[in-house]
Amino acid sequence: MNFKNYINGEWVSGEVFENRNPANTGEVVGEFVKGSAANVQAAAEAAQAAFPAWSTLAGPARGNFLFKVADILDRKFDLISAEMTREEGKTLPEAKGEVRRSINIFRYFAGEGSRMPGFLVPSERDRVHMFAIRKPLGVVGLVTPWNFPSAIPAWKMAPALICGNTVVVKPASASPLSAWRIVEACHEAGIPKGVVNFIAGSGGTLGQALVSAGPLKAISFTGSCEVGQWLHAEASKRRLRIQLEMGGKNPTIVLADADFDAAVGNTVNAAFFSTGQKCTATSRVIVEDAIYDRFLNALVERTKKLKVGNGMEPGIDIGPAIDQAQLDTDLRYIDIGTREAGAPRIGGRRLTGPGYDKGYFIEPTIFADVTEEMTIAREEIFGPVLAVMRAKDFEDALRIANNIPLGLSASLQTTNVSRVFEFVYRMEAGLLTVNLPSAGVEYQLPFGGTKDSSFGPKEQGPAAFDFYSDYKTVYLKY
Ligand code: NAP
Repeated sequence: MNFKNYINGEWVSGEVFENRNPANTGEVVGEFVKGSAANVQAAAEAAQAAFPAWSTLAGPARGNFLFKVADILDRKFDLISAEMTREEGKTLPEAKGEVRRSINIFRYFAGEGSRMPGFLVPSERDRVHMFAIRKPLGVVGLVTPWNFPSAIPAWKMAPALICGNTVVVKPASASPLSAWRIVEACHEAGIPKGVVNFIAGSGGTLGQALVSAGPLKAISFTGSCEVGQWLHAEASKRRLRIQLEMGGKNPTIVLADADFDAAVGNTVNAAFFSTGQKCTATSRVIVEDAIYDRFLNALVERTKKLKVGNGMEPGIDIGPAIDQAQLDTDLRYIDIGTREAGAPRIGGRRLTGPGYDKGYFIEPTIFADVTEEMTIAREEIFGPVLAVMRAKDFEDALRIANNIPLGLSASLQTTNVSRVFEFVYRMEAGLLTVNLPSAGVEYQLPFGGTKDSSFGPKEQGPAAFDFYSDYKTVYLKY
């Protein structure tokens, strides 16, 4: 099937590129139109033309459109979930969880249209009424990665639209279909033309066009640190408002007093589910010396039980890497890790043979006795590769965990409440979990990292308004 771009309420065709199933590269999931710089400019102009009417529509009326989008996605739930597994490779239960989350995100922000809180405070002066209201920014560019192909477009589009902005969506080339389905739902919901625009195609070409597009006021980007830094520099030249959510090298700290089995399960879940391709995945597990050997053995034993394969099949725990480039990256880091830390305790190879030959399948891999200066303890891999590190005690573990430039998520496994609070106040990461996997967030609270992982206001929950709207303050004498 051919999936066209969407500009000013029209489906626009052109030269196409293929979206293939990473579990079976013989299967074309869809053909997408390769957008051009001219398309981006046309989309930004359409969004600008649509802005006055959309931004002055009552908030609850914008909310009604978003409720309709959620209902349409709900009706197509099974189709969209299966398509996500076919285009991204994650297992069908994971895909269903993500589509459910996207629907919930649209409903959550639809409701916010009836609230949209500002400030009303008493003046020091007689008969002066003073308040601040939220105003939308204008045209916002939304650039999204391949690993959460529905939830991330949803958690950018829904708050942007409810605040009254109009948007140009640029999905990842490896998995554009899930975002396309949201845009299709916006079209079917009757959202006025020009409010939502969608352009697939090369990030390099479209990214440059987006930051140069005259009407653009802001960009929200999720993806790699390299692209984010480039985008930041370009956007700064035009003083565009920018929000960047980028990479992580997330630690799980396991203390000797933890619920041992739960800590093993949480670590395996966070390191390997979704093929380690979550920005919040655990890639370093820092284990207190007293339980290190026992924990390492248990981790290896639990990992042996994981089933790798096509995520459409029941019983599969881990799907493929997204593409050849990510598989090559995983294998390159496994080579580096083998040189630095010795052979992995488990895994380390591309999977071949029946069921594997047509996909980018790789074994979940564990390196033991990894130390702080090693590359595999410092750089994001974004695959199912876990570094196990030894710490003398809690203080040592916290120091190791903080000793990198990235700070997205972090987890602590312990039953000691004092250490929980030490961790909450001293761990340098934007998202913390305790006795849960480091990955697995909800949409009702702020989401985002700290240090080099993020820049700008947080996403999701009430914090989303800090990026997608501005205050206008009014002093009124009566
Ligand atoms: P990526 O290569 O940076 O791509 C992200 C998006 O940017 C894609 O749509 C890509 O388009 C586009 N892009 C590429 N070059 C561009 C340019 N010069 N200007 C503007 N846009 C450009 O990242 P990815 O490989 O898709 O995703 C993996 C990364 O995302 C990991 O580092 C992961 O940690 C991070 N991530 C972070 C979060 C978070 O919330 N912190 C969440 C998920 C993922 P093409 O696909 O066409 O190249």
